[in-house]
Amino acid sequence: MSEPRPRLYRIEGIVLRRSDTGEADRILTLFTPERGKVHLLARGVRRPGSRLAGHVELLTHSTFLVVRTRGLDIVTQAQTRHAFPSLRASLEQIAWGCYFAELLDRMLPEESANLPAFQLLLEALQLLDEGAPPEPLARSYELHLLTVLGFRPQLSSCVGCQQELRAQEQAFSALLGGVLCPRCRGEDLQARPLSLEAWKALRYLQRSGLEEAARLQLQPGCREEIAGLLHRYIRVILEHELHTAGFLEQLHSHPRAMGEPEPGSRRPRERGEG
Ligand SMILES: [Zn+2]
Repeated sequence: MSEPRPRLYRIEGIVLRRSDTGEADRILTLFTPERGKVHLLARGVRRPGSRLAGHVELLTHSTFLVVRTRGLDIVTQAQTRHAFPSLRASLEQIAWGCYFAELLDRMLPEESANLPAFQLLLEALQLLDEGAPPEPLARSYELHLLTVLGFRPQLSSCVGCQQELRAQEQAFSALLGGVLCPRCRGEDLQARPLSLEAWKALRYLQRSGLEEAARLQLQPGCREEIAGLLHRYIRVILEHELHTAGFLEQLHSHPRAMGEPEPGSRRPRERGEG
């Protein structure tokens, strides 16, 4: 016989998303280490002077005291663990923090606990708060997120023939999830060219921790190539796994938020490409 579950419980989490409901309430989507995504009701937090409000801001890492109900469980108290004050002081850093949270929210299925993903998001937010350059950090975050969610791109051996890759011009197949050697390139006609520099940078980012990766200096062309390639890969995964069309449209309409160049600054397609 199982014990009745206690009415009150404590849970740690990062606020991934919030939506207004009722007159002054908010529904919070937390990312918790133990239970993955959890939705809670925070009552009255849009009223001035709410004692909960500061602890339930977007991206805040807090511990919540929650009362179980038949509907959404309700937050009764909260204590901030990390507020990330410097991140909040910079519009650019907070935009990147929101992107990290939203990407995780979109890619992680409901009711799916993933402790490495939690630790990854927390570390990425801490680095942003410490003023880490967001661009290489974002690429490293994307690569590690893909790994902990089971979509690690294959960069050391060819996804076609499985032979170890050599230092040469090759192609990246978003559909097959990795690099195709020149001999196998025909296996995915949508595969995009991958420069030697971008291949080396991707491998470095994949095997390095976030903090180390954030210090990587990349040429603008290489940075754009890596961003474009990772975002195509993420789009393919989202289209296949989750059908989240709204998010995809957002990627197209706000390319800067995704670290891609403005449409006007894109290099024209080379002849014979594709
Ligand atoms: Zn091959």
